[in-house]
Amino acid sequence: MRGVIMDAPGEIRVDDRDDPTILEPTDAIIKIAATCVCGSDLWPYRGIEDVDHAPMGHEYVGTVTAIGDAVKTVKVGDFVVGSFFASDNTCEICRAGYQSRCVHAVPMGAIGTQAEYARVPLADGTLVATPGRPDADLIPSLLAASDVLGTGWFAAVAAEVGPGKTVAVVGDGAVGLLAVLAAERLGAERIIAMSRHADRQALARDFGATDIVEERGDEGVAKIKELTSGLGAHSVIEAVGTQESMMQAIRSTRPGGHVGYVGVSHDVELPGIELFFSGIHLHGGPAPVRRFLPELIDLIWRREINPGKVFDLTLPLDEAAEGYRAMDQRRATKVLLTV
Ligand SMILES: [Zn+2]
Repeated sequence: MRGVIMDAPGEIRVDDRDDPTILEPTDAIIKIAATCVCGSDLWPYRGIEDVDHAPMGHEYVGTVTAIGDAVKTVKVGDFVVGSFFASDNTCEICRAGYQSRCVHAVPMGAIGTQAEYARVPLADGTLVATPGRPDADLIPSLLAASDVLGTGWFAAVAAEVGPGKTVAVVGDGAVGLLAVLAAERLGAERIIAMSRHADRQALARDFGATDIVEERGDEGVAKIKELTSGLGAHSVIEAVGTQESMMQAIRSTRPGGHVGYVGVSHDVELPGIELFFSGIHLHGGPAPVRRFLPELIDLIWRREINPGKVFDLTLPLDEAAEGYRAMDQRRATKVLLTV
């Protein structure tokens, strides 16, 4: 099969890889219909994380082509959505809703779903079948559910977004934009998107943002305070993962408020004394997307939400290198790869 390999930072190759096979009785093999490039794939691409001839990709939707003997809830022919961690969905951590930290979690990034086929471990716990064969125009949205929508949704839930609340979103990548959509669906009264890119501002407004703040850092925080009677937002979503974005999120939150942080943290250090006096709640981490998949698939299937709009560039798998370049250079927000 064909699959994406990152040889070294900035070096993407689409090449032949071994076809996956059933290794464990709980595995399924899926033929991938669509996959995409994640903002987190840019960390190794930019040399911020180590990478050495690694298969890439952890977002996927597709059709089951084989199952192991122990698989019960999905069958060959099902169209399925899974998240970026395989999980059993039965352990104590999963049952509490934290499937990305399942005691048996397997990172799908190590398997590499930017490929024609993928082995999905713990298929019963990981995969959710759609009600039928999706129309082609639903596939981008279902793919978004696999990571960016599920992550944005978790961020909003972690930030305790709800009716009557003012929400600020730090980060205008695909996750931040879909956190805006989630905040709107969860009933937020006011949603402030922090973005300085006109196209992303427009999509944020389309997803439900009521205000746009272009300033960053301390100026961004001052602007949020100005818009909230000097108090800060009730709920702040952090969807970047840098020191600046995390501190911007924490400082934009009112005492008693909640930060939902989902940007993969890189060299972030929190000042203890400032945290102590902030009086805020911090909740985040790798999103337990599996918790939300049934609900998100249902909303997409009934066409109540259209998160697939975050994909602004679609390329065939063989042109993945251009997809990485486009995202790295911010020419694209989110790149869909057709398989
Ligand atoms: Zn588990």
